[in-house]
Amino acid sequence: METRTVGVIGAGTMGAGIALVCGRKGHHVKLLDANQAVLDKAQSYLQSILTKDVEKGKISEQQKKDTLEKMNLVSDMGQLADCDIVIEAVPERLDLKKTIFGELSRICKSNALLLTNTSSISITEIAGGLPHPERILGFHFFNPAPVMPLVEVIRGKKSSEENVEQAYRFAEQLGKVPVLVTDTPGFIVNRIARPYYNEALRILGDHVANIEQIDRIMKLAGGFKMGPFQLQDMIGIDINFATTQSVYSDFFHEGRFKPSRIQQRMVQAGSLGRKTGEGFYDYSK
Ligand code: NAD
Repeated sequence: METRTVGVIGAGTMGAGIALVCGRKGHHVKLLDANQAVLDKAQSYLQSILTKDVEKGKISEQQKKDTLEKMNLVSDMGQLADCDIVIEAVPERLDLKKTIFGELSRICKSNALLLTNTSSISITEIAGGLPHPERILGFHFFNPAPVMPLVEVIRGKKSSEENVEQAYRFAEQLGKVPVLVTDTPGFIVNRIARPYYNEALRILGDHVANIEQIDRIMKLAGGFKMGPFQLQDMIGIDINFATTQSVYSDFFHEGRFKPSRIQQRMVQAGSLGRKTGEGFYDYSK
C-alpha cells in the first residue's frame, strides 16, 4: 500500500480518531487544530490508544514508536502544503468549511485529494466557486472513527470520477467499508437518523417518557448499542443540532426534519454532551 501524507484539520471528536485510523495504516499524518488544548488532548489520546494496542499484543513497542513519530501535531495551515490527502473535520458550519477549502485550494498540490467529513453539508456547495472542485469530495466517517467500519464517499456535482475512485480505494486501504453516495441532504445515514433523534426529542418534550426510559427502550427493543440521548451526548449536541438544521434547510423546511427546541436550548447553554462534561447525562464524575 502506498504511504501518503495525510492532513487532518480539526483534532476534536472526529479528527483525532480519523488521524489514528490513518496513523495505524502507516501514513504520515499532520493533525491540525486551532486550539492548543485540543491538540494536547489529541496527543494524549493517540498515545494512550497505541499503548493499549501494545498491551493487547496488537503492535510492538517499536511499531508504536514508529507510528507516533509519523504523526505530527500542527497549528498552521501552511504546514499542510505537501499533503497528498487532506481530511477536514472542523465544526459543521458552511462558512468555516468554505474558508478552509478556499485556503487548501490555494496552498495544496493541484492533485491533492481534498475531503470533508461533513455530516450533512452539501459537498457541491463547499466546492462551489473554488478552483479545482473536481478534487473536493465528502468522506464521512462515523463516531468513533477507529471503530465504526462505514465511510460514506460523497460525490459532489463537480467531483471527478477519477478522484471518487481514489477516495473509495483510500477508504478501503484504511480498512473501512466505503459506500458511494450522491450529494443529497444528510447523505444516507444522517437522512435516516434525523427523524430518529427528532422523534425521541418530541417524545421527551411531550412528557411521554424520560431520557433514561427512552434510551433503555431503544436498547432493549430496538437492539441499539446506545439510546438516542446517549448517542447525542457522544456525538456532541452542537454537532447533532447543526446537522439537523442543515438537513432541514436543504430539504426546504420539510416538517419531518424540523429541529428541536430542546436541543437548541442545550446548545445555547453550552451543554454539549460528553465533551463539555454535561449533556442529557452528567459526566462530571
Ligand atoms: P468537534 O467540535 O469535536 O471538533 C472540531 C475541532 O475543530 C475543534 O477541536 C476546533 O478547535 C477545531 N477547529 C475549529 N475551527 C478550526 C479551524 N479554522 N482550523 C482548525 N481547527 C479548527 O467536532 P466533531 O464532532 O469532531 O465534528 C467535526 C466534523 O465531523 C463536523 O463536520 C461533523 O458534522 C462531522 N462528524 C461528526 C460526527 C460526530 O459524531 N461528532 C460524526 C461524523 C461526522
